[in-house]
Amino acid sequence: MSIKESLLKIKEELPDIVTLVAVSKTKPISDIEEAYNAGQRIFGENKIQEMVQKWEILPKDIEWHMIGHVQTNKVKYMASFVSLIHGVDSFKLLKEINKQAKKHSRNINCLLQVHIADETTKFGLNTSELDKIINSDEFNTLENITIVGLMGMATFTPNKEQIKKEFNFLKFIFNELKNNTSNNLQLQILSMGMSGDYKTAIEEGSTMVRIGSSIFGSRN
Ligand SMILES: *Cc1c(COP(=O)(O)O)cnc(C)c1O
Repeated sequence: MSIKESLLKIKEELPDIVTLVAVSKTKPISDIEEAYNAGQRIFGENKIQEMVQKWEILPKDIEWHMIGHVQTNKVKYMASFVSLIHGVDSFKLLKEINKQAKKHSRNINCLLQVHIADETTKFGLNTSELDKIINSDEFNTLENITIVGLMGMATFTPNKEQIKKEFNFLKFIFNELKNNTSNNLQLQILSMGMSGDYKTAIEEGSTMVRIGSSIFGSRN
């Protein structure tokens, strides 16, 4: 199947409330153009440098999502254009995003990444770290960021029940925090699900899926 065919097939399957992030990391400009010409406007990258290079070349109506782990010292390179940062996992990082957003007189939308997997290698906050961030006095002083949702990655396992449980847990936390709104905490987005598990994620309440290999083919 071509990129266009794969993309359109997936889009057709997604419920209306679920937003598709086409994960184009490692893929060439021509692949992104093919998806763009088929109507896709939201792309996800996991390396800041690579995202910046692609942003420079490609049409400016693309929304770029940073889905990877973010190093604090690199936030400045994407602060002028990034539309959503999925992987915020420390208060230090959030403060830097706020600072860089302010320099560009804009607001940057962020998701807090929660650790839901059974593996120690996946980044993310545990529930007490999450509570600590959003309940801190300093959090409310950050005027150039908005936390618009949560992001999580399930364990890489064929055990569907386990994946389901992990997504269900994230949805539970999301619901707990959803009513807890303030100026910079307005949870609407639940980013969970990749090529291998997005159907399960949607069953468990995902509103945003990040799909790469099922659209663009496998990466080396
Ligand atoms: C690479 C990546 C994806 C997409 O993975 P696929 O299995 O290719 O769909 C989704 N989310 C994150 C955080 C990623 O790094």
